[in-house]
Amino acid sequence: MTTARTQPDTAKVRIIMFGAHPDDCDLGGGGTAAIFSSMGYQVKFVAVTNGDAGHQTMKGTELAARRFREAQEAGRRLGITYDVLDNHDGQLLPTLEVRLQVIKKIREWKADIVISPRPNDYHPDHRYTGVLVQDAAYMVAVPDLAPETPALKKNPLFLYFQDRFQRPNPFRPDIAVDITNVFDKKIDAMDAHQSQVYEWLPWIGHYSQLVPKSASDRKKWLAESRTNPITPEVRNTLIRWYGREHAELVKHAEAFEICEYGIQPGDDEIRRLFPMLGVKN
Ligand SMILES: [Zn+2]
Repeated sequence: MTTARTQPDTAKVRIIMFGAHPDDCDLGGGGTAAIFSSMGYQVKFVAVTNGDAGHQTMKGTELAARRFREAQEAGRRLGITYDVLDNHDGQLLPTLEVRLQVIKKIREWKADIVISPRPNDYHPDHRYTGVLVQDAAYMVAVPDLAPETPALKKNPLFLYFQDRFQRPNPFRPDIAVDITNVFDKKIDAMDAHQSQVYEWLPWIGHYSQLVPKSASDRKKWLAESRTNPITPEVRNTLIRWYGREHAELVKHAEAFEICEYGIQPGDDEIRRLFPMLGVKN
């Protein structure tokens, strides 16, 4: 898909996504990451905790090691790199220590786009990941802070993943990406997190009896159970970026809200950063 004419731009734009756990970024941005990757962009996922509390029978370093391997496999399937920070699952706090870890990751990646959860969510690790990334916004460009990693020349664009939470305010879809053609790839990445999608999440959610036994049935079930209806707000955003004709055919989408603490791009800048917007695929 990359042409010689677009090469210089794509080489410059770099994307980093933060989730609390190894599998969060896949769910919020796996499709968008797959598209960026197929266009030759550099994408990194970072799990801020190692996931060592996310299982009904395994725990500790054994579970963290399994989840690390699953994350590496998911990254391979998406064509991206997947980092896991060694903080305990279920115990994340927005401390200065973790904030500096986040700042370092954003700076080392020379990120143009940073995506994280909003700081309102049912899970404390998700909430604090949102706070930590917000706390890193602006500071990534301050040279005196953590000077061993050179500061960015300018603040990136910070975005939030879509969520369903209504308070204090509902998610606002500023950008929506048509992921219909890469939805299978997103499911393939989620399928790599076997300990989660087929074991832990069904157990904690009391639906283990629904998980099929065979690998192919499982993946089909995963795709069906992870198909969410596109909300009217997201559909309107798709219409805005892709036009009505295309937008009405979109089956799967990922939406993002612009955080106020990074650059505030106009439409032309958003199209430069997300060149798949409006492209018929
Ligand atoms: Zn999570």
